[in-house]
Amino acid sequence: MLAWKILHNALPTTDALALRGIPIDATCVFCHGSSELGVHLFWECPFTWRLWDSIACDSFPSHEVPLPFSDWFTSIITGYATAKHWLALDRFFGMCWAIWITRNNVRFRSAVYSPHCVLELASEWSARSGTTREIVGCCAGIPPRFSYHPTWQVLRGEATVLCEVLMCFDGAWDRGNHNAGTGWCFLDPSYSLCIGGGARACMASSALHYELLACLFGLKHARQRGVMSICLFTDCMSVPKMIQEPSSSDISMVWTIQEIRDVISSFSTCHISKVSRSSVVEAHSLAGAASRRVLLCFKF
Ligand SMILES: [Zn+2]
Repeated sequence: MLAWKILHNALPTTDALALRGIPIDATCVFCHGSSELGVHLFWECPFTWRLWDSIACDSFPSHEVPLPFSDWFTSIITGYATAKHWLALDRFFGMCWAIWITRNNVRFRSAVYSPHCVLELASEWSARSGTTREIVGCCAGIPPRFSYHPTWQVLRGEATVLCEVLMCFDGAWDRGNHNAGTGWCFLDPSYSLCIGGGARACMASSALHYELLACLFGLKHARQRGVMSICLFTDCMSVPKMIQEPSSSDISMVWTIQEIRDVISSFSTCHISKVSRSSVVEAHSLAGAASRRVLLCFKF
């Protein structure tokens, strides 16, 4: 998610805010020598480059190679993912995350920083990702939706807000007896850390209905946890449209959609994106367990 935002220049960097008429000093907090474009912050800035140099290895394209930023960025991610070099991928995302967090701390909290602090933060982050992968037992697969260009839709709030939690959700059902299951997974905005989730068994009238129920249960769980800004990922093309323009004649669906809209109105920000099926695989396995009644009502 963070990677996607970096690549699509969707982070609320100061130059992006200045473009929207917000009076803010757009100079880079690290080098004070250039405007804070995403490409500068994560690539061109001399401070950032010293950081990349310090974790670079053979497979890391050199800064000397004349590549556009987007090519450099995607070649690293796809290179590591293809080689299933998850540790290197964690380290790469950890560094992106640490740069962004440090930038926020310096800009908004006047924090004191050093290359050492950023490297510490990055390694802490990648260690946590590795541990989580072992616990959850999920391999990251092709990372942060890179095989798919998400189509973002804003259900509430501003498009530029970086949501504090991502939520993948999915449903599963048994066509024979209408036993359905829903599952959801909360991820931190860098995408690789699963920070919670749940599963719930239910009955549903259609495939679309259990997708909507999964969305509803996950959203309620997020609100119980105090989450205020959330980005939803679904593999079902119809869900974003149904939430935005309810058009079902099935009364149980109408109720569910209305409940979803009510819960969304209690968030400050809510985005939704259609992603590939493989991107919601963890939520799907939770939903499958609920539809088989292995899990009835489970939260973590
Ligand atoms: Zn700079």
